[in-house]
Amino acid sequence: MERADVERWKSKYLESLENLERLESRWENRLDLVRRGLVRSSLAAEGNDVAVDACLVELRDILRRDDSDADLAKLIPRLERTVLDSEQRRELRTRQVAEAFAELCRLLLNLELPRELRKALKGFAKRAQAAAGQSGELPALLGEFSRLQQQALTHLQPEQPARPGLLQRLFGERGETGSEAPTGERTAQDAEPLSAASAPLAEPQPLLTPDDAPATQETPAALPELATAAADDPAYALPPVPEPGYSAIAPHLEATLLRLLDDLALPDSHKPQAEILRQRIQGSLNWYELVPVLDDLSVLVLALNHSGQSEFQLYLRQLNERLATFQAGLEDVHVHRQDGQTQERAFGDALRGQVNELQSEVQEATDLDSLKLSLDSRLEGLLTSLAEQQAQREHREQEASQQLSTLTARVAGMEREAQQYRGHLEEQRQKALCDPLTGLPNRAAWSERLDLEVARWQRHGGDLLLAVLDVDLFKRINDGYGHLAGDKVLKIIANELQRRLRKTDFIARFGGEEFVVLLGATPVAGAVTLIEQLRAAVAACPFHFKGERVVVTLSAGLAAFAPGEDADTVFERADQALYRAKRAGRDRLEVA
Ligand code: GH3
Ligand code: MG
Ligand code: MG
Repeated sequence: MERADVERWKSKYLESLENLERLESRWENRLDLVRRGLVRSSLAAEGNDVAVDACLVELRDILRRDDSDADLAKLIPRLERTVLDSEQRRELRTRQVAEAFAELCRLLLNLELPRELRKALKGFAKRAQAAAGQSGELPALLGEFSRLQQQALTHLQPEQPARPGLLQRLFGERGETGSEAPTGERTAQDAEPLSAASAPLAEPQPLLTPDDAPATQETPAALPELATAAADDPAYALPPVPEPGYSAIAPHLEATLLRLLDDLALPDSHKPQAEILRQRIQGSLNWYELVPVLDDLSVLVLALNHSGQSEFQLYLRQLNERLATFQAGLEDVHVHRQDGQTQERAFGDALRGQVNELQSEVQEATDLDSLKLSLDSRLEGLLTSLAEQQAQREHREQEASQQLSTLTARVAGMEREAQQYRGHLEEQRQKALCDPLTGLPNRAAWSERLDLEVARWQRHGGDLLLAVLDVDLFKRINDGYGHLAGDKVLKIIANELQRRLRKTDFIARFGGEEFVVLLGATPVAGAVTLIEQLRAAVAACPFHFKGERVVVTLSAGLAAFAPGEDADTVFERADQALYRAKRAGRDRLEVA
């Protein structure tokens, strides 16, 4: 071979060697890139399927090693199988999620919902079918479903806290109980006995179960026989359903609404409406009907209020008109009398004139015959005028007496009507002063009476005492046995207190589970004895729930009026004393 050829081949060889090296380094770089890319994507792909995840961990492990080929060759088919399985599982899940959404929507659509909401739900169900496959969409889908469900529930339970109860809107007050109106069924296990009612103060106290709470343990020692007896007296039985569902309170509600309807003295124009409402209440008053019924009732109450006012205005207008005619009648009588007087004066003048003329004729007369003649005619004239005068007077008197009797009748009628109105007003006033649950005087009646008694005390002095009584842990009665039970307890307590007071004492329901008592002509020691008797009587009431004794106690604060003190200050002191009694463990009386 020629030397030049050798050189040429050598340089060609070297050149290709260089190329090869360049290629190799390029492949190295690419391989490195591919490895890193694979590691990264495997990391990103993790978290969807446990089996796939395990393969990916293995893959990364192999990729980090140099001698990876053999292991990689074994892993790749396994990875392929695992991914395929995972894909099938994912499809199954997607189907299940889509079906679950469809079922949830179907359940909601079974309810009676407004049209827009039904439309929104149907739209959602369609979208959920399409989007359920993407796991990233799930939170958004759930969020949307939760919103729709919320709307549906709000629609079905219109009496949500956001909307104050209608009676509350109408009548204010008593919202305290209104807001705790039963909202659903509760199971018997929810009820806990109230034996801890007088336990030492430790708030909140754990409620005991029937087994570990001997019901009579807190009963005042003075009344053991009463406390253990009569755990079956139905009069003191608390209703067995702990927190009533709607069906349980429905009869109560129905009776209350019907009573309210009865008590409305509606004008004739509104009676048909009231009758329809009565039929709706008696017929099928249910949870969903309740709100519209209350709304219609409110319309009637407002109508009544309005008609009451206009009726009274009408009465006043009529009264005014009648007074005007009455006055006119009186004026007539007066005018007639004046007429009569004028006529009688004219008659007297005429009479006097005729007598004067007669006198001068007698004096001037010359012969007896002509005198006799003119005398006859004069006397005739006089007698006629006299008879006329008499007839006129009789006529006038008759007219006057008729007018008077008309007026008297009118006055009597007016008096009768006024009497009726007075009675009606008094009835309304009595109603407004009475607490409908317990029948005791209410807070308004209390203020009225308090003012009266304080004024009397300021004039005459003597003893005047004020006590505030509060049921201990009453909330637990409501929570444990329901509001109906709470109401029954309040009624019985009110009755116990009322019938044990003297005629001169005064008791009122101050609000909620709080009573106020005013004791006149009683020294402090006597008042303490009396209040303690009241407390003992209430503690001895054999309330029971499902055979378990329920003890209800009262705490009280007592204050005596001191010279120069006003009612507010005394009340404040009694209230402070009550507060001390509560702090000191309840079931006791503290004197201010
Ligand atoms: P304390 O011993 O401190 O007085 O505790 P308590 O639970 O009696 O006092 P609180 O004032 O916390 O609760 C009184 C409860 O009385 C709250 C309210 O729901 C209930 N209540 C008020 N009025 C009525 C009512 O007319 N009927 C019923 N059932 N419960 C009422
Ligand atoms: Mg209380
Ligand atoms: Mg209270």
